[in-house]
Amino acid sequence: MIDLRSDTVSKPSPEMRRAMAEAEVGDDVFGEDPSVNRLQELAAQVLGKEAALYVPSGTMANQISIKVHTQPGDEIIMERTSHPFNSESGGLAALSGVQVNLLDGQRGLLSAEQVARVIRHDNDVHNAPTRLVSLENTHNRGGGTVYPMDRIKEIHDVARAEGLAMHLDGARLMNATVASGLQAIEITRYFDSCTLCLSKGLGAPVGSVIAASEDFIRRAQRYRKMFGGGMRQAGILAAGGIYALENNVERLADDHLNAKLLAERISGAPGMRIEPSNVETNIIYLQLDPDEARVDAPGLAAAMWQRGVMALVMGRYGMRLVIHLDVSRDEVERAAEIMCSILEAR
Ligand SMILES: *Cc1c(COP(=O)(O)O)cnc(C)c1O
Repeated sequence: MIDLRSDTVSKPSPEMRRAMAEAEVGDDVFGEDPSVNRLQELAAQVLGKEAALYVPSGTMANQISIKVHTQPGDEIIMERTSHPFNSESGGLAALSGVQVNLLDGQRGLLSAEQVARVIRHDNDVHNAPTRLVSLENTHNRGGGTVYPMDRIKEIHDVARAEGLAMHLDGARLMNATVASGLQAIEITRYFDSCTLCLSKGLGAPVGSVIAASEDFIRRAQRYRKMFGGGMRQAGILAAGGIYALENNVERLADDHLNAKLLAERISGAPGMRIEPSNVETNIIYLQLDPDEARVDAPGLAAAMWQRGVMALVMGRYGMRLVIHLDVSRDEVERAAEIMCSILEAR
């Protein structure tokens, strides 16, 4: 099967598995796992922060970060299609007791003017005071969109002037750095806290990191324990993350080329609505024209499945395809041929 549902389906390579099998371990709740400690030091260095914390998932990384930044009853600003609001099981309400001021972005991106317009302070008893702006880079539901640096800077300047903190959901931050040719630190310097998923395009089986100041990470450690994420000999897992950061970052450029190739190859198929120039990284969202396409998205996905290609259906006419390190260029070409032939059949 060619699995294009998500980059989370990527599996550890034999070399990564060897690094994991040979990892030195200890009890990480005691802070004694040398491999976890090494991963955290490496992540802090790569992300340009004082400290980092290894956690089981990207969801926990976001939820802990927002818990550290806020008090119940606070308000945070996010784009409407952002992951923490849409795909983290109501954690913002359940775990942090915050309310979210949702703004409509363009392909997931906000502007500084939009943010500035909705900030409120505690000088009026009616207000839920705004504490935090949370951005996502790359933006998943926006289509793997890379935040332009000037936008980030402008939003940061507004947030700073108003005394707000900045959080980055950097699940796919390395896709953003590779696509833009920037170092991670050039992006993360505008944020008080940032996350990074090791288990997506970077190919590790488990885990994410939070990077921030030492004080922030100390507080995050307590919430990791509270949320049930304190792991013991986690170095076995962390070793996969170290391997991923040391070996699997630059190669993300191949995934981006393959995603663009796939988008271009299928863009001419009957009923296909897709703009290849919007494919900036490894994620493709496509729409089918309800009048022109001979199938809807569940129908297309079912026909693709029969021929060995897996995709994620997003509503009646939408579909998501994600490229990752377990998908070769040949497989991308084959997937494109299969999709075109399904849509062209009469
Ligand atoms: C996948 C993802 C997460 C959460 O990661 P999990 O490890 O699946 O919990 C957070 N943010 C974004 C943008 C993601 O794509």
